[in-house]
Amino acid sequence: MISLESVSKSYSNGVPALNDVSLNINEGEFVFIVGDSGSGKSTLIKLLLRELTPTSGRIVVNDYDLSKLSRRKVAKFRRSIGVVFQDFRLLKDRNVYENVAFAQRVIEVPTRQIKQNVPAMLSLVGLAGKYKAKTRQLSGGEQQRVALARALVNNPPILLADEPTGNLDPRNSWEIMKLLEEINKRGTTVLVVTHNREIVNAMRKRVVTIRKGVIVSDEEKGEYIDED
Ligand code: ADP
Repeated sequence: MISLESVSKSYSNGVPALNDVSLNINEGEFVFIVGDSGSGKSTLIKLLLRELTPTSGRIVVNDYDLSKLSRRKVAKFRRSIGVVFQDFRLLKDRNVYENVAFAQRVIEVPTRQIKQNVPAMLSLVGLAGKYKAKTRQLSGGEQQRVALARALVNNPPILLADEPTGNLDPRNSWEIMKLLEEINKRGTTVLVVTHNREIVNAMRKRVVTIRKGVIVSDEEKGEYIDED
């Protein structure tokens, strides 16, 4: 479902942010990507979203060979991945319903169908009663739930979460992680970039550790490994 073959990425200063990285993630997996600041995690995410192209190597995501995408196909490809970020990135002056419905309007889902899909999604993330609230009136945990509903409403096969609990307290962090686990159990492939050692160690999922642009460990039921 996600495949990187000997991928390297250097920025203009020539220092490789990723160096000969190979990684395969199968359909239905739940994978944590961990590593200290500057290790190359954001670069990896940007490559997977085709916001960047590798200096060398090959990336295939959802059967799209990312080196061969026309501009039109890039837009189509990006819609096949749900993404959530640390800072939620919601439309602050719109209500919860509108934030989620917007994702469906972009791909021209008929209004009649949107009216069914959005409440179903909000109920999955535990926000059934809040659809009229403006997102800036919500707690961080609730905002991340809205972001998740928006990321998932179009049924993407892959969900990419970039530090999804970075702005949340421990209780809300756990609730969001449990939700990600639930979403994974329903069939979505889930990739989570995180610094949250406690959660990574408790969840016993596959853990890929990046250090200075290189994958230094890839363990089923892994743990958070410290920089030594
Ligand atoms: P992480 O997300 O793990 O903190 P990054 O992927 O952001 O790591 O960064 C990896 C390396 O690439 C770092 O050394 C960083 O300084 C460098 N880097 C990231 N983005 C750029 C850029 N736009 N231009 C030059 N160097 C960059």
